[in-house]
Amino acid sequence: ATPTALMVGTGRSAKMGILIKNGEVLEAANHVKTVVFDKTGTITEGHPQVTDIVGDEATVLRVAANLEVSSEHPLAAAILDKAKAEKVDVTAAENFQAIEGKGVQATVDGQQAFIGNDKLIADYKLDATLSDRMAQLQSEAKTVVLVGIADQIIGLIAIQDAPKASSAGAMAALKARGLRTVMLTGDNQRVAEAIAAEVGIDTVIADVLPGDKADHVKQLQAEGPVAFVGDGINDAPALTTADVGIAMGSGTDIAIESGGIVLVKNDLMDVVRALELSKKTFNRIK
Ligand code: ADP
Ligand code: MG
Repeated sequence: ATPTALMVGTGRSAKMGILIKNGEVLEAANHVKTVVFDKTGTITEGHPQVTDIVGDEATVLRVAANLEVSSEHPLAAAILDKAKAEKVDVTAAENFQAIEGKGVQATVDGQQAFIGNDKLIADYKLDATLSDRMAQLQSEAKTVVLVGIADQIIGLIAIQDAPKASSAGAMAALKARGLRTVMLTGDNQRVAEAIAAEVGIDTVIADVLPGDKADHVKQLQAEGPVAFVGDGINDAPALTTADVGIAMGSGTDIAIESGGIVLVKNDLMDVVRALELSKKTFNRIK
């Protein structure tokens, strides 16, 4: 590949909002066999909304909101939005502690409280009614978090994050080019599968702890070069491990720094366009 041709390729793409760091990245994109996607903020809009509260709504929402004040997680924003809309009294809980990939713990009303998934509260037993309701909400593609205080689960909050308009089309286009698509997420298997079915993703790897995303990328690399598409702090290691790291422009600074390609418009069709551009550039110049 001649440097001039590379500059033509990357210059044109930059105008479309596809920033490619260098020629090696563009060349690596030509060999990709598998495209792996983070879920929240990558396949989905990343603006989750509370849809259902199970339990005594006012109490569940107040405890949840107090816990989430100090959290930077997108789920926290959804809960705080809902609390604001319902005019809930929100005070930051003391002794706040975020537990990566699981949830949050803190002191509310002088008692130990928590919000998060079933990995956070593996020690607590869910009664059958709650666990059935949880499964039902998850199969509707809703992320469900459990809210507890003083060793007692007091309710559930279901949160929905719609897929981006571009997601289904991008998956179809990648498949038409013979590429395998994979979703890699910290969210629950049932939720992940419901969203994968909506947008047409081949393989779902769910319940992945943030520190394990890069390992999954390595395993997928056994079958050929991998592109990883993500936006979060926890996606940075996977972005650098992948043969091609593709970061959302809306993503965290660390994700953007870790990506070899940045999609300014957050449009997943731009993943397809980037791969196409690579193919055109490297099949033209020999
Ligand atoms: P993703 O891969 O979808 O970005 P994360 O690894 O950030 O997911 O989080 C995985 C799961 O951990 C969430 O789906 C949620 O169940 C739980 N979780 C993490 N942080 C929080 C929080 N602040 N509040 C409630 N639940 C949380
Ligand atoms: Mg994300």
